[in-house]
Amino acid sequence: MSETLFEQIIAREIPADIVYETDTTLAFRDINPRASTHVLVVPKTRYRNVAELAAADAGLLADVLNTAAKVAELEGVADKGYRVVFNTGEDAGQTVFHVHAHVLGGGPLGPEARG
Ligand code: AMP
Repeated sequence: MSETLFEQIIAREIPADIVYETDTTLAFRDINPRASTHVLVVPKTRYRNVAELAAADAGLLADVLNTAAKVAELEGVADKGYRVVFNTGEDAGQTVFHVHAHVLGGGPLGPEARG
């Protein structure tokens, strides 16, 4: 079995509402959305947080950000604006220790739409 929830989603061991996929990344809807568009983007290789990903594989971090931009286009929020959030560690409320970008949009984003 895969180690984290997101590895299980990547391995199709548990279902998710997948909106976009590349060779290196997967994008799926957050199960508890905080904005009308709330999609998570994960690299298929696991790093615990964005700092570890940036230090280990800058190209893969760029893939995650390019997928986030593609998701914003597909969701129709690219022109009006959107937020990309990487919660990192306990004080930020990170609950899944497989790095993920929250892509939030679809209307004015208040502080509650923090990912
Ligand atoms: P974070 O708090 O930044 O670690 O974000 C983890 C996110 O994963 C939260 O926004 C959860 O709502 C979301 N989440 C938890 N379980 C699932 C799931 N099975 N499918 C999609 N999103 C999930």
